Amino acid sequence: MINVLFSARASQWAEYEPHLRKAFADNDLTVNLATDHQAGDVDYIVFAPSGPVSDFTPYTKTKAVLGLWAGVESIVTNTTLTQPLARMVDEGLTRGMVEWVTGHVLRHHLGMDQHILHQDGAWDDTPPPLAKDRRVTVLGMGALGAACAQTLAGLGFPITGWSRSAKAIDGVTCLHGDDGLKTALQTADIMVLLLPLTDATENVIDADALALMPKGAVIINPGRGPLIDDEALLDALNSGQIGHATLDVFRIEPLPQDHAFWAHPNVTVTPHIASTTRADTASQVIAANIAGVERGAPLQHKVDRDAGY
Ligand code: NAP
Repeated sequence: MINVLFSARASQWAEYEPHLRKAFADNDLTVNLATDHQAGDVDYIVFAPSGPVSDFTPYTKTKAVLGLWAGVESIVTNTTLTQPLARMVDEGLTRGMVEWVTGHVLRHHLGMDQHILHQDGAWDDTPPPLAKDRRVTVLGMGALGAACAQTLAGLGFPITGWSRSAKAIDGVTCLHGDDGLKTALQTADIMVLLLPLTDATENVIDADALALMPKGAVIINPGRGPLIDDEALLDALNSGQIGHATLDVFRIEPLPQDHAFWAHPNVTVTPHIASTTRADTASQVIAANIAGVERGAPLQHKVDRDAGY
């Protein structure tokens, strides 16, 4: 019998329990799944930072902590967490992000606001450009960034992707390192941020980075708020260097009511809804990962504590 502790928001238990039980059965695992195991008996923890466990010290026989979130910046700094940690890579989460990013890229590419918001009787029949004439850069070529890049490439956008290590992804011009970032910024008519928040990525979009982008470029940030220097972005929006910013994530969430982003005419605020982990698909990922570890396979999607993601 494998003891699995579910430690997430209480309201998520009802959502996840049936899917986890089915996924464990699908993977031929005999599991005692509960929210209240004795710490010393727990083999695996299904974990969200919003749940009750924050001190991992008593979980002495726990073989792995399986996160429900893709972003782990609030977990990697927990010094009591010495057990291996897996972040969430979930097809449902990925498809949600691809749909959100594609929708917002197309909004800006097609200039939809002009027609949705300005029904003023003016008949301007200028057609929008084709995707092939709009360069899109995606910073972060991980589970989410690569999927978004490939979908946008499939629509015909010339796509540049940037990551820490060198990559080869069909249909995407892959760059890495400081020189790669410079080129990625210079060719970003629309830029999508799907980097994790680490010491190395905080403020990656600062005043210098914004100045390298084509005038009037659009920024779409479903990654993490601190990737962007807020003041530098506001300056760039006010000067017209950046045409629009669609922001899903912020340094403080919920975004304070008096934050300048809410009132800025060229900022769209969405309330951290770009995508979320889906209980049905994520439960299968968790069960398959546990089944693999039980068979002696390495933990999948293991977080590199030194890199911070
Ligand atoms: P991931 O698979 O870990 O991918 C991260 C990517 O960023 C990798 O390509 C990595 O490069 C690159 N990277 C990391 N540090 C870098 C650096 N210093 N310089 C250049 N590239 C760097 O993560 P993911 O699953 O795609 O998720 C990305 C982020 O999306 C999460 O961390 C989270 O913050 C955010 N997110 C937001 C929402 C939302 O609803 N808004 C939902 C889910 C996730 P390598 O490939 O070389 O390692």
